[in-house]
Amino acid sequence: MAPPLVLPASGTATHAALSEMLARADPAGDERSEGALDHAARAIVLARAVGDDPARARAQAWHCVHLFRLGRHDAVVDEARAALAGLQAQRLVAEERELLRVLALAANETARFDLALESAQLLVNLAGTADEPGSALAASFVLAASLERIGDSWQAIRVLSQALDESPDAPLRERMLARNGLLAMGIGLFHRLRDIDPEGSRGQLEQARVQGQLALELQQRADDPIYAVTVSGNLGEVLLHLGELDEAGRLLTEARERGRVRQLHAHVWRITASLAEWHLASGQAEAAWDEAVQLIQSLGALAPQQTLVRLHGAAYRAAKALGRHADALLHLEAGERIERQRTISQLQAQSRLFVTKGELERVRRDAQRQRARAAELAQDAARDPLTGIGNRRHLDQRFEQLVADAHLHDRPLAVALLDLDHFKRINDTLGHAAGDRVLVALARLLGENVRERDVLARMGGEEFVIVLPEMSAERAVDVCSRLAERIRTQAWPGGAPERVTASIGIAASTPQAPLTPAELLQRADEALYEAKRTGRDRVLMK
Ligand code: GH3
Ligand code: MG
Ligand code: MG
Repeated sequence: MAPPLVLPASGTATHAALSEMLARADPAGDERSEGALDHAARAIVLARAVGDDPARARAQAWHCVHLFRLGRHDAVVDEARAALAGLQAQRLVAEERELLRVLALAANETARFDLALESAQLLVNLAGTADEPGSALAASFVLAASLERIGDSWQAIRVLSQALDESPDAPLRERMLARNGLLAMGIGLFHRLRDIDPEGSRGQLEQARVQGQLALELQQRADDPIYAVTVSGNLGEVLLHLGELDEAGRLLTEARERGRVRQLHAHVWRITASLAEWHLASGQAEAAWDEAVQLIQSLGALAPQQTLVRLHGAAYRAAKALGRHADALLHLEAGERIERQRTISQLQAQSRLFVTKGELERVRRDAQRQRARAAELAQDAARDPLTGIGNRRHLDQRFEQLVADAHLHDRPLAVALLDLDHFKRINDTLGHAAGDRVLVALARLLGENVRERDVLARMGGEEFVIVLPEMSAERAVDVCSRLAERIRTQAWPGGAPERVTASIGIAASTPQAPLTPAELLQRADEALYEAKRTGRDRVLMK
C-alpha cells in the first residue's frame, strides 16, 4: 500500500510532485519494483487532483506493470481494465501494447485464458489502426504464451516462430521478447521431454540456446535492464542443462543478483531453482539442498507451480545424494502432488479453451494478415532509393535469421564489407552525379554477382555489405577477390572515372567459433580498416 499522501498546497507544487512521481514510477527507470509501485499509486492520486488525464492513464498502466513484476498476478487482472480504458482514451499506443501483454501473461498465470485471448485480439486491432508493426507480433506472442500455458508447447513455438519470420520490421524490443519467448518455451519443452526422449530434449536445448543468444544480443542492443535478468536467467538455465557449468553459473549468479536489486521476485525464484540444480550438477549437494529448501520455506503459497516443482525436485535429488532418504521422500511426494494439480488445471484449461478455439484461430489469422500488410510497408522502407537494392534496414531484417540458421545447422556464414577507394575524388573531379552513377552501376554489378540466397545491402555512402550463408572466410575471400577484379576492370559510366577500386573486409562465423551478427560486422569492419590501411584495392579477412 502507498503511504498516506498529503497534497501540496499549491497547484504548481502538485505538478512538480506529479512529474517526480511519474519519473520514479517509469518501468523503464531505475527504481525498484516495490518503490516504483508506490510512486505509481501516488502519481495516480496527484494526476487525478490536477486533472492530468494522460498522466493518470500512464500511472495506472505502470502500476499494473509493477504489480506484474512483483508476481501479483491477480491484482494485475483486477486493475488492468480500467488502466486500458485510460490509455485508449489518450491514444498511448506503446503503453497500451505493453499493458496488454502484461495483462495477458497475468491472465495466463491465473488461468483466465479468455482474457489472454481478448488481449491478443486487441493487439491485432492496434496493428490495424496505427502504424504499429510490432503489434501483430506482440499478439502472436500472447497467443503462443497462452498455448504454452495449457500444455501445447509445440503449437506455441510454431505460432511464435512463424510470426517472427513474418515480422522482420517489428521493433527491436518486440523481437527480443519473442526470441526470449521461444527460449523459455524451448526450456519448457525440454523439461517435458527430458525423461522420455533424451535425444529430442537435447535438440530443444540446442535450439533454445540459439534463440537465447539472439535474445541476449537484442537485449543488449535494446539496453533493457529487466530483460537482462530474464534472458540471462533463461540462457543460464539452458547452458546448465547442456552441461556448460562455468558459463551457466556466471549467468545465473549475475542474473539473480540483478533480479534481487530490481525486486523481480518471480524471476529470482526461478533462477534460484536453476542455481540449486547448478549446485547439484557441480557435485555440491549440501549447497543445492540449502538453496532449494530455504526458498520453499520462505515462499509458501506465493510460489508459481512450475518453480515449486523444480525446487522440490532439486531438494529431492540433493537429499538423496546426501543419503537423507526420509527428506528425499518428503520432497519427492510434495513435487508429485503439485505436478498432479498442474496436470488437472491444464486439463481444465484445455476444456475451457475448447470453447474458444475458433476464436483462437480467428485471432491467429487476423494477426497473420496484419503482419503481411506490415511486411509490405516494410519492404518499401527497406530499399535504398538511389540503387534500388536493400538498405541497412533490409540487412537488419535478414541478418539475424541467417546467422541463427547457420548456428542451428552448424554451418558457416561469411560477411563481406565493401567500401570504394577514394570515392571522394570521383565526386570531386567528376561531380556528385557521376559519383551517383558509379554507385548505381556498382550495386548492379554486385547484385549480378551474388547468389539468390545472399543478402546484399547498401550500408550508406559507398559502403556495401554482402551476407554469404554457407560460406567459409577463405571461400568468401576467393569470391570477393573476383568481385574486386571486376570492379577494377569494368568500364564505368558517368564521365568514366579513370579507375575504380574497392577494399573488402571479411569475417565468418563457423560451427567451431560461432559469432553473433554484431561480432561479424565488427570483425569485417576491422578487416576493411586493415585493407584500407595497407594500401586499398584488396580483400582481407579477420
Ligand atoms: P577511402 O578509400 O578511405 O574509403 O576514401 P573515400 O574517399 O572513399 O572515403 P570517405 O568515406 O571519406 O568518403 C566517402 C565519400 O562518399 C564522401 C561522400 O561525399 C561520398 N558519398 C556518400 N554518399 C554518396 C552518394 O550517395 N552519392 C555520391 N555521389 N557520393 C556519396
Ligand atoms: Mg571509401
Ligand atoms: Mg566510406
